[in-house]
Order: sequence, then C-alpha cells, then structure tokens
Amino acid sequence: MLIPKSIKIGAFNLEVREVKGLADDGSLSGEGTILINKDLSPKEKELTLFHEIIHCINPGFTEKEVEWISRALYQVFKDNNFIK
Ligand SMILES: [Zn+2]
Repeated sequence: MLIPKSIKIGAFNLEVREVKGLADDGSLSGEGTILINKDLSPKEKELTLFHEIIHCINPGFTEKEVEWISRALYQVFKDNNFIK
C-alpha cells in the first residue's frame, strides 16, 4: 500500500506527511496533518496510518483502544487483500 499524500476523513481533508526523525511512529498535528515517521518499515507506516485514522475518527478513544482497533482492522484488510 502506498502511503497517500492526503486522506479524507468525514468532512476533513488531512495532509499525510512522512517526516524523518519523528520522536513517535506517528502523530496528528494541530493543522490537520498526519505525520508518519519516515524511518519506519512499509508495514509499520501502514499500521501507523491506520492508527492515526482511528484517532481522527474518534478522538475519545484511549491510546489502548486505538491500538487494538487499528491493528485488528489492519489485519482484516491485509488478510482479505484489501491492501497489499
Ligand atoms: Zn496513538
């Protein structure tokens, strides 16, 4: 899966940027940008994108909830070849 340059979530168009030397795997910046650590493997980047998308969909989820939902959803998408 290619990491897109932007992604539409609900009414919002978020920019997706791969950044070198990011302290975390990924994060949401205040200006509606998803940052992904450029140093991650392709699979880790995909997982991180799913993770940040779940954060956007429901900002009320705890970090633990975001973690298991994003991993479970990512696995289903992978196992069914929705993403390659
Ligand atoms: Zn998180």
